Amino acid sequence: MHVFITGGAGFIGSHLVDALIKRGDVVTIYDNLSSGNKQFIEHHQKNENFTFIKADILNFKQINKAIKNHDVVFHLAANPHVRLGEKQTDLDLKQGIIATYNVLEAMRQNNINRIVYSSSSVVYGETPNLSLPETYGPTLPISFYGAGKLGGEGLISAFCGTFDFQAWIYRFANVVGPRGTHGVIVDFIEKLNKNPKELEILGNGKQQKPYLYVTDCVNGMLYGFEHAKEKLNLFNLGCDTNTTVSRIAELVVEEMDLHNVKFIYSGGDRGWKGDVPRFQLDTQKINKLGWNATNTSDEAVRKAIKEILKNG
Ligand code: NAD
Repeated sequence: MHVFITGGAGFIGSHLVDALIKRGDVVTIYDNLSSGNKQFIEHHQKNENFTFIKADILNFKQINKAIKNHDVVFHLAANPHVRLGEKQTDLDLKQGIIATYNVLEAMRQNNINRIVYSSSSVVYGETPNLSLPETYGPTLPISFYGAGKLGGEGLISAFCGTFDFQAWIYRFANVVGPRGTHGVIVDFIEKLNKNPKELEILGNGKQQKPYLYVTDCVNGMLYGFEHAKEKLNLFNLGCDTNTTVSRIAELVVEEMDLHNVKFIYSGGDRGWKGDVPRFQLDTQKINKLGWNATNTSDEAVRKAIKEILKNG
């Protein structure tokens, strides 16, 4: 299979590349390295099944040329920082919605009709305290990042309805693991490296979310892609356990072998405006198809901390 991956030099994308190359697929990465890292994919440079193109999706002419002769597109490129929308309100409009439109339109012009998309649980917005199935609605995100993801989902659905595309949309839980470059674990490690005596925790520490280990995430994406046959296949991708922010802080302190660290809470029920403080994903749909995460949320967090500390 000839696979085109946007965002393939990023955290999740580079693990997806590893899995696809291992299976013998021919892979083209299209990434502008805005938050990705060439080191994450360096080990494939000499593989004849691997091509890296450093370019921006917002350059339509360039992606329209590069995408030719591929069988399927995995579209992972996006602004990864939920919080940035507060400062730059058009960022997710460009990097989420317009970028996704460019990918879809380039596919249409080149007769490629299968897309796999990395959406997010943040599309559900602030919800009642229940395990959220894919049918939960209305989906009203409270961040620009979430709005960008939901806009992308809408465009994909429109291309499926209008041009007979087939799509696999995954609403990820929080994904953690080696090569992680952002998020709460990286934030805590960086802060404790600077000052091992105290740790500032955003919010009251009670924010509670499911964490999915990155290789589970990639395996889940590929499993759904191979086994789900609808025109539009929508799945939550996560685990049925969760972890509080305070627990993550304890695990980071433990794994860094620090003692008597003072936790300083910034207060409030969430890390920042637009942060969804608590949610649980119902993953029965993909579980019934035959896929389950192999790590609980706590296990995923602990493994990710160990790997990130080991790799610096
Ligand atoms: P990441 O930042 O490591 O990867 C994104 C990649 O896209 C980077 O390599 C970046 O350089 C590239 N990119 C961004 N804008 C681009 C553009 N205009 N043109 C070309 N390349 C561009 O982030 P990640 O955590 O690996 O996330 C991958 C995808 O999964 C994203 O769409 C993200 O929104 C989604 N997601 C991630 C999580 C998570 O917990 N990490 C949760 C839900 C959804």
